[in-house]
Amino acid sequence: MPVRNRLAEMQKEITEWRRDLHENPEILFDTHRTSAIVAEKLQGFGCDEVVTGIGRTGVVGVIKGKGGSGRVIGLRADMDALPIHEETGLEYASKTDGAMHACGHDGHTAMLLGAAKYLSETRNFDGTVVVIFQPAEEGGGGGKEMCDDGMMERFGVQEVYGMHNWPGKPVGSFAIRSGAFFAATDQFEIVIEGKGGHAAKPQEVVDTLVVTSHIILALQSVVSRNVDPVKQAVLSVTSAESSSKAFNVIPQTATLKGTVRTMAPEVRDLVEERITAISKSTAEAFGATVEIMYKRSYPVMVNHETETGYAIEAAKKVSGDCEEAPLVMGGEDFAFMLEERPGAYILVGNGDTAPVHHPKYNFNDDAIPAGASWWAELVEMRMPAAS
Ligand SMILES: [Zn+2]
Ligand SMILES: [Zn+2]
Repeated sequence: MPVRNRLAEMQKEITEWRRDLHENPEILFDTHRTSAIVAEKLQGFGCDEVVTGIGRTGVVGVIKGKGGSGRVIGLRADMDALPIHEETGLEYASKTDGAMHACGHDGHTAMLLGAAKYLSETRNFDGTVVVIFQPAEEGGGGGKEMCDDGMMERFGVQEVYGMHNWPGKPVGSFAIRSGAFFAATDQFEIVIEGKGGHAAKPQEVVDTLVVTSHIILALQSVVSRNVDPVKQAVLSVTSAESSSKAFNVIPQTATLKGTVRTMAPEVRDLVEERITAISKSTAEAFGATVEIMYKRSYPVMVNHETETGYAIEAAKKVSGDCEEAPLVMGGEDFAFMLEERPGAYILVGNGDTAPVHHPKYNFNDDAIPAGASWWAELVEMRMPAAS
């Protein structure tokens, strides 16, 4: 797909940044090296203000354009890696055992740095750009922590945009959808307590594992029998462990863990309610007890309609087209920023690569022209400089 590359002369440099970040992945809030590099580069580009330590290791850069429109747009990238052992065999593969940029946040950070450099040099816009680099997108809620630190108010952000690479989508292409886009992600843990004992004396025990098995199966009816079939929900039990490791001991306790993904608040409430009711009553029927922990994590990520329109317009200017994206049952920390300010989140094609979170995944450097140009286009389009 032909791309109008606004940052062509920076392609090599951005690629080098990306590969350096890839080689040195950092997890959750421990993005100390990455944050330091980002801050140093933003300073070097001549940003008007660079602030570190927002949301622990988050970094914010401010770039003032020409003119006095008073408009302020936030552009956000994530910086964190995943606890995965890399199997790409790349010459710039992770040097840190058990950590890997398997979601392409190395690419996101590099592309936004490229856009920051371009915007600092050209300043061909009327307003202020706030570039936001967040830690801990992968389950840590780094975006929420930056918001809780008062970032939006402090920098006067009026609207905010995000981007993610998308394996399987052609390089140079974009996709987006208005409204609910990424799912709310919740976690649950159910501890089942029966009455342990000798495996040869079932009459004397309450078999914790039989109860646990019934609960796992009964939970399968929540999505299929309780949730409105035209609405979306996923309930996956992902771990089952008991306190017994022996072949002849009925365990006293067992623990189930799992995740729930939903797209609407009422469905989210319903699934939580049903998990609790089913687990309790099933355990009770067998003479066991349960303790349930249900943790609400990221909310549904909702793209705002007007800003989605701007995102599409910028994407079309870069590559001529922007498809409608399907719903994604994964979660996105950017949801918290979109709860605070209007904005939109777009997908940029990563080509035919392994899926994200896979040990053989790699961000595609050929996606840099489209991704970085989209940021530049969006800013100059939303805040046109007076001619
Ligand atoms: Zn991810
Ligand atoms: Zn990601």
